[in-house]
Amino acid sequence: MTRKVFWEDPYRATLDTRVAEVAGTDVTLEATIFFALSGGQESDRGTIGGHEVLAARKHGPEIVYTLAEGHGLIPGQSVRVAIDWERRYRLMRLHFAAEIVLELAYARLGTGTKIGAHIAADKARIDFQSAEPVTPLLPSLRESAMAVVAADAEIVSAYSDAASERRYWEIPGFARVPCGGTHLRRAREIGAIELKRKNIGKGKERIEIFVDDRPAPPPSEA
Ligand SMILES: [Zn+2]
Repeated sequence: MTRKVFWEDPYRATLDTRVAEVAGTDVTLEATIFFALSGGQESDRGTIGGHEVLAARKHGPEIVYTLAEGHGLIPGQSVRVAIDWERRYRLMRLHFAAEIVLELAYARLGTGTKIGAHIAADKARIDFQSAEPVTPLLPSLRESAMAVVAADAEIVSAYSDAASERRYWEIPGFARVPCGGTHLRRAREIGAIELKRKNIGKGKERIEIFVDDRPAPPPSEA
């Protein structure tokens, strides 16, 4: 099973590892920092052994990376994995902004009202079932979310069940939530949050989440 270094250290941008298996254009790795779409968080972008990763997908506990034809990698070969760190860091900021807004929205709309979520590098969105437009909620949601950011709580990320790779994040006193995404270490890293409402059909409300522009900090050293 691939060792998920993106959980051990979500701030790594490069990793030296070895190819585990190769099946045509699909490869698996002994260890990886390259996240594959999960929990609404988009896959990373980057390279394995200098070859652009065209697709990354979860396959049970494995992560399968698709490279172009003719990549030439073989099992056991040493490779460097490199991800687009600026993009990943934005994904982590938008992901955690969405986590906080979701918890706060549950308090107003009720748990179980979420019907979808997606975290891209330009914005995140959470979709709810709600008979009423969420527009009137947004100013207070934003204010409460920014209070969490300003309080700069430490964000704990750990296994709830290591054998089955179930993970959670927790801000003690605020929430503990199951999630296998990559999480920031501290709430202040999110920065300024903006919220917008979008109607996406009868009884369906979308909250779009934006964060300010700022450069990513230097990644962790290998
Ligand atoms: Zn998460």
